[in-house]
Amino acid sequence: MAVPQSNIQSTVVVVGGGVVGCFTAYRLASMGAAVTLLEMGGPGSGATGNSAGNVQPASGDDDAYRIALGAESLALWRKHLPQIKEWGGVDYQEQDVRYLYAATNDPEEIDVRRILDDLRSAGLKAEWVDGETAREIEPRLSPSITGGTLHQDCIQMEPKLFMTALSRAASAAGANVVGGTQVVGLDIAAGQAKGVILQDGTTLECSSVILATGAWTSKLMSDWLGLELPVEPYGLQKLHLNLGTPPPLHCAVRWDGVNIVSRKDGLVHAGSSFDPAGFDTKPSLQAQEWLLERVAAIMPGLEPSGVENIAAFAASTPDRIPLVGPAPGVDGVFLNVPSTDGFLMSAALAEMTTQLLMNGERHPLMDRSPLARVDAG
Ligand SMILES: Cc1cc2nc3c(=O)[nH]c(=O)nc-3n(C[C@H](O)[C@H](O)[C@H](O)COP(=O)(O)OP(=O)(O)OC[C@H]3O[C@@H](n4cnc5c(N)ncnc54)[C@H](O)[C@@H]3O)c2cc1C
Repeated sequence: MAVPQSNIQSTVVVVGGGVVGCFTAYRLASMGAAVTLLEMGGPGSGATGNSAGNVQPASGDDDAYRIALGAESLALWRKHLPQIKEWGGVDYQEQDVRYLYAATNDPEEIDVRRILDDLRSAGLKAEWVDGETAREIEPRLSPSITGGTLHQDCIQMEPKLFMTALSRAASAAGANVVGGTQVVGLDIAAGQAKGVILQDGTTLECSSVILATGAWTSKLMSDWLGLELPVEPYGLQKLHLNLGTPPPLHCAVRWDGVNIVSRKDGLVHAGSSFDPAGFDTKPSLQAQEWLLERVAAIMPGLEPSGVENIAAFAASTPDRIPLVGPAPGVDGVFLNVPSTDGFLMSAALAEMTTQLLMNGERHPLMDRSPLARVDAG
């Protein structure tokens, strides 16, 4: 990685090398922009590398709008993955996954049937299965399952390996990807961003700055621009379950807010629990028990022989709508911040920001985003 010199002119500087920043740098460079990405750790060292790597529309309490947004992002993932795989040169253990959104009683059936309608309306592949059919697909599922929505349009991958591939693909597309470099401020003159200030006091000049700084964004925007943004760090915890020799799950399951999915390396991911612990997030036994209780209830036949506990923080936004678009009150600064499903949304956010900068096209999400209602003061 080349260290940027203060006299290098980059048209665009992306701050933050998580999945959103790297995807954005990859897309902008592919479209011909001169891009430098600055990351204070390494690619994926924030929320991204600790995530489950699910590209799964409807991974939360999502309404039809968010499911459609997820479907838009999934389509972009499918479009760009072959090139990222080729240029990245890393096997990131990608797999197509089918998720059973399981119901064990009438109110749960109403919820997962609503998800079925929303998935289908968004053009995604999903069908209703009864409990017996679900257990034929995966015999370790609980007899208490009465039915569910089988969502067959999801991808899952190993996020750390994927980030190696994506950052390499961004470099191959022409982006200057720089790790170990913290941005400590913005250089602004007459209401226009002129560059970013680095930790050593030098300035990297540019005409546009994209903040893909995840959970750090609210603090940075408050310190640098005096903007109070509706985004906060939120703790998420997941488990890696070691099953020993039994075969991987034939189908992933989602129940009571928890995803249980086999990774290609044989580990089973179970997550995530959410708590507002902010930057102090650390794995807790309480969250581990909460997750294990749900695994035991919906997949009693799983019986893991080992458990690894992982916690990290991600940005959380109102109604899980991303903060995307121009920062209010200053020209040349753009935000690109997802909520707690940012792995899924990254492809769409990268595309929206790329189209805005390269072609001046505003995606309709930018008017719906909480960012559109932020007062520049
Ligand atoms: C346990 C867990 C499981 C999850 N599972 C999923 C899932 O299956 N699917 C899904 O869609 N989402 C999932 N998520 C959420 C997802 O990980 C995040 O929404 C997503 O990774 C956010 O990506 P990002 O690029 O916006 O942020 P980050 O990955 O946090 O990247 C931001 C980067 O900015 C850098 N940075 C910050 N400030 C500066 C600065 N001043 N200068 C330079 N660099 C800076 C940080 O070092 C960091 O690398 C999960 C999260 C967790 C914690």
